Amino acid sequence: MATWGLHAYRARDLTQHDWRTEAGGTVKPAPFEYHRPGSLAEALEVIGRYGDELKPLAGGQSLIPMLAMRLARPSHLMDLQRVAELRRVVREGNVLRVGAMVRHRDMERTAEVPSVVATAIPHIGHFQIRNRGTVGGSLAHMDPAAEWPALSLLLGCSVVAVSTRGSRRIPADDFAIGPLMTALEPDELMTELLVPLPEGGGGFAEVERRSGDFALVGAGCQDGTVVVFGAGPRPQRLAMTEQFIKAGGAPGPELENIAALEIVARGDIHASAEYRRRTGATLVNRVVRQSRTHVEGT
Ligand SMILES: Cc1cc2nc3c(=O)[nH]c(=O)nc-3n(C[C@H](O)[C@H](O)[C@H](O)COP(=O)(O)OP(=O)(O)OC[C@H]3O[C@@H](n4cnc5c(N)ncnc54)[C@H](O)[C@@H]3O)c2cc1C
Repeated sequence: MATWGLHAYRARDLTQHDWRTEAGGTVKPAPFEYHRPGSLAEALEVIGRYGDELKPLAGGQSLIPMLAMRLARPSHLMDLQRVAELRRVVREGNVLRVGAMVRHRDMERTAEVPSVVATAIPHIGHFQIRNRGTVGGSLAHMDPAAEWPALSLLLGCSVVAVSTRGSRRIPADDFAIGPLMTALEPDELMTELLVPLPEGGGGFAEVERRSGDFALVGAGCQDGTVVVFGAGPRPQRLAMTEQFIKAGGAPGPELENIAALEIVARGDIHASAEYRRRTGATLVNRVVRQSRTHVEGT
C-alpha cells in the first residue's frame, strides 16, 4: 500500500515540473551543469568550488534513478569516469587500497580480495549493476542493506576522504551515520577504501527476496568480529555476541539468542522488525559457524 502511495506521489509530483531544458530538449532530471574532470586535482577543485550544490556521479546505479525521479536536484553534476587515479587497486603489505571508482565487478575479479568479500559481491544486484556500480558509490550512497558498508565494518576498513583542505581517514564505524548519510563533508571526495587483509577465512550470508534484490537482512563474521546489516538504519557490530565468542562460546541456540537480543531492527513493507531480528540471529549463528570451519580447515 505504501509503495502505491509513493508511486502516486511521485507521478503527481513529476507532472508539475517543467520538463524543458534550456536547450529546448526534454529530460527527466532537473537542470544541472555537467562537469567531467580529467584528474583528481581537477575533481577536487570542482567539488571545492560548488560544495553541496554538486553531486559526484560514479556508476550512476543509485544516483541516476534519484535524478530521474527528482529526489536529487543538484545544480552541478561531476562525472568521475575519467579520473584514472580513482580506478586503481593496489596492495601495500597486508592492506588493499581500493580506488573509489573501482567497480564491484573489478573486485569480483581481483584475486587478493578476502574470501568474505568474494562471497558477498555476487549478492550485489545483477551483473549489469556490478559492471557499472562502484565501491565508492556504494559507500557514499550508504544504503543500510548494501554489502560494502557491512564489509567495511566487518574488516575494519577506512575511507580516505580528500578535499582541497587536505586528506583524512575515516574508520568504517564513523563513516556510516544512517540511511543515505555519511561522515563525508560536502566538499570531500571519497578517493579510496583501505581494506586490511585478514589471515583466515570468514563467513557471510544474507536473505533476499529474489536473486539480485537488496538483502532483507544479512550477516558476516571475520576473526571474531560479527556484523549484521539490512536490519537497522546502518550496519551494526554485535558487541555481546563477539564477547560470547571471545569467551569460548560456540555456535548454537545460546549464541543465536544473544544476537537476537542486540540486533537493532526496523520493519517496513518488505519485512517486519521481528523477522529481521530472528532471521538476522540465525544468519549470525551460520556465519560464525562458517568462519570456524574455515579456521579449522586451514
Ligand atoms: C536494481 C538494483 C539493485 C541493486 N542491488 C544492490 C544490492 O543488492 N546491494 C548493493 O550493495 N547495491 C545494490 N544496488 C546499488 C549498486 O550497488 C550501486 O552501485 C551503488 O549503490 C552506487 O554505486 P554507483 O557507483 O552506481 O554510485 P552512483 O549512483 O553514481 O552514486 C551514488 C551516491 O554516491 C555519491 N558518490 C559516488 N562516488 C563518490 C565519491 N567518490 N565521493 C563522494 N561521493 C560519491 C554520489 O554523489 C551519489 O550520492 C542496486 C542497484 C540497482 C539499480
